[in-house]
Amino acid sequence: MIPYGRQEITQSDIDAVVAVLKSDFLTQGPAVTHFEDTVAKYAGASHACAVSSATAALHIACLALGVGPGDMVWTSPLTFVASANCALYCGAEVDFVDVSPSSFNMDVSALAEKLKSAAILGRLPKVVIPVHLSGRPCEMAEIHALSLEYGFHIIEDASHAVGARYLGKPVGNCAYSDVCVFSFHPVKIITTGEGGMALTNQPVLARRMELLRSHGITRDPQEMEGEPHGTWYYQQIALGFNYRMTDIQAALGTSQMTRVDNFVDRRNELARRYDALLSNLPLTGPVECSSSLSSRHLYVIQLHLEKIQKSQRQIFEALRAQDIAVNLHYIPVYWHPYYEQLGFKKGMCPQAEAYYARAVSLPLYPGLSDAQQDYIAEALEKVLHA
Ligand SMILES: *Cc1c(COP(=O)(O)O)cnc(C)c1O
Repeated sequence: MIPYGRQEITQSDIDAVVAVLKSDFLTQGPAVTHFEDTVAKYAGASHACAVSSATAALHIACLALGVGPGDMVWTSPLTFVASANCALYCGAEVDFVDVSPSSFNMDVSALAEKLKSAAILGRLPKVVIPVHLSGRPCEMAEIHALSLEYGFHIIEDASHAVGARYLGKPVGNCAYSDVCVFSFHPVKIITTGEGGMALTNQPVLARRMELLRSHGITRDPQEMEGEPHGTWYYQQIALGFNYRMTDIQAALGTSQMTRVDNFVDRRNELARRYDALLSNLPLTGPVECSSSLSSRHLYVIQLHLEKIQKSQRQIFEALRAQDIAVNLHYIPVYWHPYYEQLGFKKGMCPQAEAYYARAVSLPLYPGLSDAQQDYIAEALEKVLHA
């Protein structure tokens, strides 16, 4: 089976992990600090907080920004459920802004319209979470301008976008956001097995997130109430979690970071090959934007179903029968039964729903060979024309 995504692990990755296993630290220690410094430097952010997953990073980013009961958080319906769940974890309400029919990222004009109505109703969001779908950066400058007008915070869900660039600068530099979150799940751009990171340029947010990832416990006398009882002393000053990353994971992450640009280059090369191989088929490939570089986490095609004698489902099954593990990113979040129970109704984001009805994610990862890709293109051509 050709998977839709896959990690690339080299001997140097393995050596880095084994070195940590032979060292004094297994849980969060010097390798985590080194990984944070490496990613922060690469992305151009001043602070980085490594955690056990991007889901954990989204959660503590929301909490650090003060999200709680009575607050609203808005995100895109075309994302993994974690981008919305993080608001619910905090007791806040979530809502969705429809996507652009060309980029499939949060539509800036839909956001502007929704903000205008929300302002009248007194229901403005505290935080907006744009998602860089497939690694294509959202229009952050425009979203940031709206945040100044309406007074909301921004968390970028850049789970797909490690190594992407926006207006010539790396995604993660937080030039247009309060916090930017990366995922290191194995299908993403670089991996730590499981893992995530929250980047920010704001020292206060960085410190809050650090506290929240480890039980809300401090060993800094400056942050304590009263005097320390002794050298063993610590205080819990907030309700935090155990969201720590291990040194084992961080060593893998630092080793992977040495190849992040190669991964993104190879993904872009494969994406351009798909563009050429599929150019005569009844489908539209991803549309890229000249002012940004996508990390090409996913290659999602939109089927022209009116020109094809098969349904989306039949096309999926035919490709899977030929050992091609196509996938679908994503089911609109508010279609899930849990969200329906919260009162969301089908039809609320027509662009996202139209996308879902025609989308197929083709395999894309650095280790995909040209020959495998040719096989996928041929199989797809046969299926679509049969
Ligand atoms: C993968 C993903 C997440 C969650 O990442 P984990 O590291 O698995 O918690 C969140 N948002 C998006 C858009 C993702 O693709």
